[in-house]
Amino acid sequence: TLTTNFEKSAQEAWEQDRAHLIHPFSSLAANKEEGCTVMAGSDGVHVMDAEGNRFYDGIGGLWCVNVGYGREEIIEAIVKQLRELPFYSAFNNLTNKPASALAAKLAELAPGKLNHVFFGTGGSVANDSAVRLVHHYFNRIGKPYRKKILSRQNAYHGSTHLTIALTGPVYQAGWDGATDLVHYLSAPHSYRRPAGVSEEGFLDFLIQEMEDAILKLGPDNVAAFIAEPIMGAGGVIVPPEGYHKRTFDLCRKYGIFYISDEVVTAFGRLGHMFASFDKFGIEPDIIASAKGISSGYQPLSATIISDEIFEVISRPGAAFFHGFTYSCHPAACAAGLKNIEIIEREKICERVRKTGPIFEKTLHKLEDLDLVGEVRGSHFMMCIESVADKKTKALLPAEANVGKRIAQNCQKRGLIVRPLGQLNILSPPLTLEVAQIEEIGAILRQ
Ligand code: PLP
Repeated sequence: TLTTNFEKSAQEAWEQDRAHLIHPFSSLAANKEEGCTVMAGSDGVHVMDAEGNRFYDGIGGLWCVNVGYGREEIIEAIVKQLRELPFYSAFNNLTNKPASALAAKLAELAPGKLNHVFFGTGGSVANDSAVRLVHHYFNRIGKPYRKKILSRQNAYHGSTHLTIALTGPVYQAGWDGATDLVHYLSAPHSYRRPAGVSEEGFLDFLIQEMEDAILKLGPDNVAAFIAEPIMGAGGVIVPPEGYHKRTFDLCRKYGIFYISDEVVTAFGRLGHMFASFDKFGIEPDIIASAKGISSGYQPLSATIISDEIFEVISRPGAAFFHGFTYSCHPAACAAGLKNIEIIEREKICERVRKTGPIFEKTLHKLEDLDLVGEVRGSHFMMCIESVADKKTKALLPAEANVGKRIAQNCQKRGLIVRPLGQLNILSPPLTLEVAQIEEIGAILRQ
């Protein structure tokens, strides 16, 4: 059954939106001109607009509705918590049961020594907190000069003032803040690697570049390297085999913390709870997670840190002055606990390890189309890159609006996909059935 809200007509909602609502990460001019789809209902892997049109949710809300829509158990857990204690601060010596239980659960699920959890409200907050924690650590051990963060071109780590700095220059148009904190390395993007670098030589190129950067900045000035296991909003970039291990080894060699931004990749999207460890075999010092932690039913993030960092920042002395009113929000943590219970009970990671490759294969079939330069990604984190010329990989002119037009045409046929320049991104709920995967493939081909 679809849950719908037809109380306000689509027209009325759109008029109110147009007059008053500032959309996140959007061309406000285009919003005004073109109008919006008013989303109103959901069910399983589908969403519905206020006019009653039904769509496959090809983007999982925004890389986040991992267990799908209409999960009564999560809704009930939230409502129960709201009745008992909708909110209370966790500052100083206050806590609540869902937050402590979820922290314990995450410590159990996260790799090795990642046993301490800082809660926030979203991915930007998770990464912002990771950097604040690392800086605090170095201040506490008497190395306040160790502040620089290594990030990468095409990275997406958020949109607060600090995390837009961590985010690669691709998303920094119109922003000129504290970029001197961050050094940007090349994206591990084989399809669009620098001219003159061979595919076989690309990994060595990336590792050499990273080591050169560390030596140039001075290892004692570098606090951390931040990396998504598979880069998401920067174009679903899967690094060459061995990249994670070698970048991790460089971090260890120079005493640099490794922050894994698993905001998209954790909680099943790649077939594992935490992709950095379970899929790529590295044990980061910090994992930043959000999105799939609550499948979008409540805003929630968790920055999970190692015993080593916690031991230092919990010593008597300077307090860690960082936190938010809604850190440890009881209803959000209750949603997170129930969501993880479902992921475990329904063996969603195992399921994704089976259905994810079918999704990949279905999308790769589109590579026979002239328009498609590359299909890339892993499991339920995929993207299609359109080109003007397959051989030269030349792009279509920006005015062609290829990603947007593909998205519009898919929407007409019952599928929401995300346009991003020449890319179309797919990150659907993880509960897609095989027949549904085939239907999505057919719509994309049309
Ligand atoms: N990190 C990654 C990898 C993301 O993809 C995103 C958002 O898409 C963020 C961080 C920021 O998360 P939020 O938008 O919840 O602040």
